[in-house]
Amino acid sequence: MADYIEDIDKFLKRLFPINRSITGDGNRETLRILQEIIPLEIKEYPSGQKVYDWTIPREWRVKDAWIKNSKGQKVIDFKDSNLHVVGYSVPVSRKIKLSELKGYLHYLENLPEAIPYRTTYYYETWGFCISYNDYIKYFNDDETYEVLIDSQLKDGGLSYGEFLIEGGKNSGEILISTYICHPSMGNDNLAGVVLTALLAKELSKRKLNYSYRIVFAPETIGVIAYCCNNETEMKKINTGFVVTTIGGPGKFGYKQSWQRDHFINKVTEEAFIKNNIDYIKYPFDIHGSDERQYSSQGFRINTISITKDKSYEYPYYHTSLDNLDFVKPEYIQESLHLYLCVIEKLEKSRILDVHVQPDSTRFSSQGEVYKNLYPFCEVMLSKHGLLSGMGGSQLPVNGVIEELDIILWLLFYCDGKMSLSDISLKTGIPLDSLRYVALKLKDKRLLVKNVKKGIHCDVSS
Ligand code: ZN
Repeated sequence: MADYIEDIDKFLKRLFPINRSITGDGNRETLRILQEIIPLEIKEYPSGQKVYDWTIPREWRVKDAWIKNSKGQKVIDFKDSNLHVVGYSVPVSRKIKLSELKGYLHYLENLPEAIPYRTTYYYETWGFCISYNDYIKYFNDDETYEVLIDSQLKDGGLSYGEFLIEGGKNSGEILISTYICHPSMGNDNLAGVVLTALLAKELSKRKLNYSYRIVFAPETIGVIAYCCNNETEMKKINTGFVVTTIGGPGKFGYKQSWQRDHFINKVTEEAFIKNNIDYIKYPFDIHGSDERQYSSQGFRINTISITKDKSYEYPYYHTSLDNLDFVKPEYIQESLHLYLCVIEKLEKSRILDVHVQPDSTRFSSQGEVYKNLYPFCEVMLSKHGLLSGMGGSQLPVNGVIEELDIILWLLFYCDGKMSLSDISLKTGIPLDSLRYVALKLKDKRLLVKNVKKGIHCDVSS
């Protein structure tokens, strides 16, 4: 493998300041810069397009944003950090007392230097993210402030990049996917974007047995749109990688694919062992990144993610301190080498030639059986009143099963074959809790209860 340290450094510095979101010119500019590395095709899905349970939103643009104190001095300025404005904020221009403004300010008392990252893609509001230090320094209870967010939400498109590398005669296809929607943060996920482009460059120089589908799309909505528009192709994919959080100083790890015994997990572990790297093994979990969509019932693609400071686990996650001091080109180069090593093993082993599609019929199917009516990708939970809160702020709590976890596991496993008892055994969630939430999802018409296994669906009630 070539030494990419200088390239990594150069692209990190150029891409870091760009204001990215799930739509907008920042994403187009990012993809255009990546075209200097690989011949990426840049495409768009139009606002308003229905993609499974979701709709492509309007495009968001922000020109300027600031907060001025009563003396007219700018105390918070979007020009200093893209993270200052809550992503997808609607326009606002008004004078406001701190008592009211407080409801629109986000800061982290436990990380006083950090500006948090927050988004409001599907709920029309506005907000500013500031460091707690700035909050203490600039904001006084009896003062009136002037706030401006000069933003626009209008019909446009959601941009994504695609690069297909044709392999030899073998029909196997491997997915490499990463997300481009995060503004100025290093490990999540600029490091992953740069790594993916260089990995694709390296692969395109090689003689390969298998084909590779490289996707740069906004997380969640972008990948849902991609899956919906490429359903037939996606169903043929054998395995893949979701490239995220690979550039931090922490210990290496990997998140297993949804089927623990799948060959991709074994091959990944062999690559760690071959390189004498001690690693953390994260079992598959329904939270995380775009593996949520790829492993949904309609696709069931086994994807893994190699991590170096995994999402949720490092203190700077989703803050301005996840910057280019935290992420280093050397770390990204190491992760790139590991991904290549896994791919070399896949290519050599020819394991995809004999791969059979996953099957869940081995489950007992006795007892209560439900079926998810939305098997392709995840449903838009907020639309069904199942998720509240601002994007960027929700963190799963280790070892604590919350209702959201149960909802996600039920939607993941309820395929009309696995019973609630099977799901309880598999996830460790008590049967009573599964039953309680399943009934709630049935009321919301997300699940139907099968009267007999897989034959009659109880759609009427
Ligand atoms: Zn993130």
